[in-house]
Amino acid sequence: MKKVVALAVILTSVLGMGQVQAKKKFITLGAGWVTGVYYPLAGAMSRIMYLYEPEFRLTVESSGASVANARLIRDKEVDMAILQNDIAYYAYTGTEVFKNEKPAKNMRGVLALHKETVHIVARKDAGINSPADLKGKKVAVGPLGSGTEANARQILGVYGLTFKDIKPERLKASEAADFLKDGRIDAAFFTVGQGAAAIMDVSIITPIKIVPIDDAHFKMLTKKYSFYARDTIKPGVYKGVDQPVPTVAVKALLVARKGLPAEDVYKFLKVLFAHIDLLHKAHARAKSITLQTALEGMSIPLHPGAEKFYKEKGILK
Ligand code: GLU
Repeated sequence: MKKVVALAVILTSVLGMGQVQAKKKFITLGAGWVTGVYYPLAGAMSRIMYLYEPEFRLTVESSGASVANARLIRDKEVDMAILQNDIAYYAYTGTEVFKNEKPAKNMRGVLALHKETVHIVARKDAGINSPADLKGKKVAVGPLGSGTEANARQILGVYGLTFKDIKPERLKASEAADFLKDGRIDAAFFTVGQGAAAIMDVSIITPIKIVPIDDAHFKMLTKKYSFYARDTIKPGVYKGVDQPVPTVAVKALLVARKGLPAEDVYKFLKVLFAHIDLLHKAHARAKSITLQTALEGMSIPLHPGAEKFYKEKGILK
């Protein structure tokens, strides 16, 4: 008799656990570099869901970033991802970096995040004052699968250079930072929110110069690639960079795959905006994420769950 009771207890608890687990929805989120901005933001999103939407389990994965994330969405290997709006557009339309591969037709927009600034970080002793001076230099052009790499190629292009004219290195953001510090490379491209840990870290250890992009080349660039906007690296963000540096920027987007149910995306946004203060604390760049700017720079069609949320909030007609 005792045994029967014990068995019943075990069975109910096992079944009970099963029920609880069946209710959980596991959602994967492709982020970017651990020393970038996507990753801390994604971590905060995951914490907000953990605390306030117990039905969701948001798992964050680090990656090369934009291009890799577009592929992960396309191949349904993640449910959500963060990536640059230029890369999202190229992936959706099968153009530029995606012209030789299957497009990510199933990618849908959820929320526009922060501005991502192109930083061309050079060692001060490398004598690089313009992107044209990168000729013949050892340059980290962005990790494999990054959006940075596409930006590096496009920017060098308007200065009349290709990767063949430089010595390109494909390093993780943290490796590029280390290589800059000990002089194994002369410069590195990073398309990332200002104040990213990787660049802060270099500037503390090594004197750096952030290379400006002048007006004439900015015009050439936007003529060819419409997603670039003018941006300035603010004095005081990085040690030793005390003058504003003119450069360009794109925008980071949170996206989801089309197959993620509309009610999940709707609920995600509802919970996220109810606790947006927690997201704002995750990184200095996060404060720019607001309901009013949620659709700025959105370069792909919206997810139906996002559409419902923004219509309800009066952001979308
Ligand atoms: N925008 C970067 C890229 O796709 C990633 C930045 C980040 O991880 O914050 O190259």
